[in-house]
Amino acid sequence: MAERVLLEVEDLDVDYLGETKNARACNGVSFTLHRGEILGVAGESASGKSTLLNAVMRLQRPPAVIAGGAVRYHREDGTVLDLARAEESRIRPLRWVDLSIVMQSAMACLNPVLRLRSQFDDVLRAHEPQLSAAERERRGVQLLEMVGISGDALTKYPHELSGGMRQRSLIALAMACDPELVVMDEPTTAVDVVMQRQILEQILTLQEERGFAIIFVTHDLSLLLEMADRIAVMYAGRLVEVSDGEDLVEGGLHPYAEGLRSAFPTVTGPKRTFTGIPGSPPHLTSLPPGCPFAPRCAVKVDLCDRVDPPLEDLGGGRMVACHVRKAEMLATSTQEV
Ligand code: ATP
Ligand code: MG
Repeated sequence: MAERVLLEVEDLDVDYLGETKNARACNGVSFTLHRGEILGVAGESASGKSTLLNAVMRLQRPPAVIAGGAVRYHREDGTVLDLARAEESRIRPLRWVDLSIVMQSAMACLNPVLRLRSQFDDVLRAHEPQLSAAERERRGVQLLEMVGISGDALTKYPHELSGGMRQRSLIALAMACDPELVVMDEPTTAVDVVMQRQILEQILTLQEERGFAIIFVTHDLSLLLEMADRIAVMYAGRLVEVSDGEDLVEGGLHPYAEGLRSAFPTVTGPKRTFTGIPGSPPHLTSLPPGCPFAPRCAVKVDLCDRVDPPLEDLGGGRMVACHVRKAEMLATSTQEV
């Protein structure tokens, strides 16, 4: 069966409006997500990952504004809605039912003065009004058990749960109405590695059972290499490389993606020195004129200081925004001919 498109993000720009200058934290981002696909988004802090997720879900808050582009959501019935432009009243019915989000900080998302029961109840009452109170209670218990938490936790306040339990409760809540797309913003960053593994396994099991698509954001590339069908690497608000995980394990094409990959130590296998990426990301209000990565790049050429490279399809499912790598790929394919 041909892969069915769920979401098409095209040329998405998001600005944080400032008094004198705007910061473009999402710059011309384009990608397509298919039904049931797991897209990982990696990049160091401040690369624009949360900004992208929020804008895709139309949850950006001032001073952020969507300055251009489209986020086309393909509904099951074949109709398409541009989430970037649609009236909020048309997007609201899709929330939880079609589109769910697990935010970066569980504590900030759960209401501290409400027991979990009320928080599950609110979502179910709003979006599945046909359920009776007893059915909502049963669904709440099932959802918590699905992520390995006893149903008794419905009677608890968020502060009575551990960090891992809070994070898993949020994941359960995101599943409450069986959505088509769940975006997850660093859902496991605040928990230890053992808990991180358990949560990931639960997410993958649920995804397999229910078939929803995931956009999973993290700065931990090694997580994505394990779970994502495709990985997008973000830098200074742009996608600089998109590939399947297998390719990235072999080596990043974009010098930044390769830098991220080699910045992670391996626990098993031979000892190797891992190198970081020198320097720090540019300020978004004063970007260099050419490639935003050029000031930190070990392989840059003159062109890189002058012209910002677009994300281009270099074949084999790999897209890269890099003059040097593009020239190398072209040279290789000419030699092969
Ligand atoms: P992290 O890994 O730390 O969560 P991130 O990749 O999610 O980082 P974002 O939170 O999307 O990064 O931030 C991207 C850029 O937007 C940063 O340069 C940040 O300073 C800027 N930014 C974020 N929120 C605001 C805001 N409310 N006002 C102005 N600039 C902002
Ligand atoms: Mg973030």
